[in-house]
Amino acid sequence: MIDPSRIAIDIFGVTSNTNWITQLKSAKEIRNTWYEQVEDDVLRFYIELRHPQHWGYGLTYDSAGKRLVIRVKRQPAVMDIHHLRIAIDAGHGGDNSGASGLTSKALEKEYTLLIAKELQKTLKRAGVRQVFMTRTKDTSLSMPERIEMLKEYNPDLLVSIHLNSAATDTVQGTSTYYRYIGFRPLSMTILNQMLTLGLKEYGNVGNFNFALSGPTDYPNALVEVAFLSNPSDEKRILNPKFHKAVAQKIYLGIADWLKQLK
Ligand SMILES: [Zn+2]
Repeated sequence: MIDPSRIAIDIFGVTSNTNWITQLKSAKEIRNTWYEQVEDDVLRFYIELRHPQHWGYGLTYDSAGKRLVIRVKRQPAVMDIHHLRIAIDAGHGGDNSGASGLTSKALEKEYTLLIAKELQKTLKRAGVRQVFMTRTKDTSLSMPERIEMLKEYNPDLLVSIHLNSAATDTVQGTSTYYRYIGFRPLSMTILNQMLTLGLKEYGNVGNFNFALSGPTDYPNALVEVAFLSNPSDEKRILNPKFHKAVAQKIYLGIADWLKQLK
């Protein structure tokens, strides 16, 4: 949730029998926590955060399986892009080609990888030391495999790169997607930068059920760069200069997001 920044967790099949919440002044990210019994068997926890942006959280059971543990990530100590761990996912790959170009038959999987590699280069050139790529070749990777790799790497944020496609060739433009409202700001600053490329606005799409936006562990955004199914978008997508320009805009979008948070 945003304004104020908080995490809300519904736990189903649970009725509270406690009157005890310990709050710690030493907690670095958590300002306040409370719960309410919203239905007879639904308990809702609220965790109010100290910072306007939440950096992710994870839910696990302890080893005995008796306690639910909610781990809230702290905001990075140094809010500088150089210090962030940034993950990039090039959509599709291997036996999953994704969409294909209207006239060129260009495969989405090839162009998402080209753009992802440009983004990796751009970030490295800008001094970002830790960049993680889910793939650097034409690899077949399932969504669960990607999620497992990402959770293992534990990034500060993830950008997924795809190319869009529609049934009618007049649909065009750039768009970004988020699943949870708390991660919307990153998708907005990236979209704002993408729009300076002169692409049409397809929009900022929320509540989007994309597998890699499912994890709550780190802020993430999906970028659907442009439409392979539209002639003018397709022409741009085929141009290597455009890949560099897109990479630059995504980088600037991440930088804008960080600036907003300072
Ligand atoms: Zn795709």
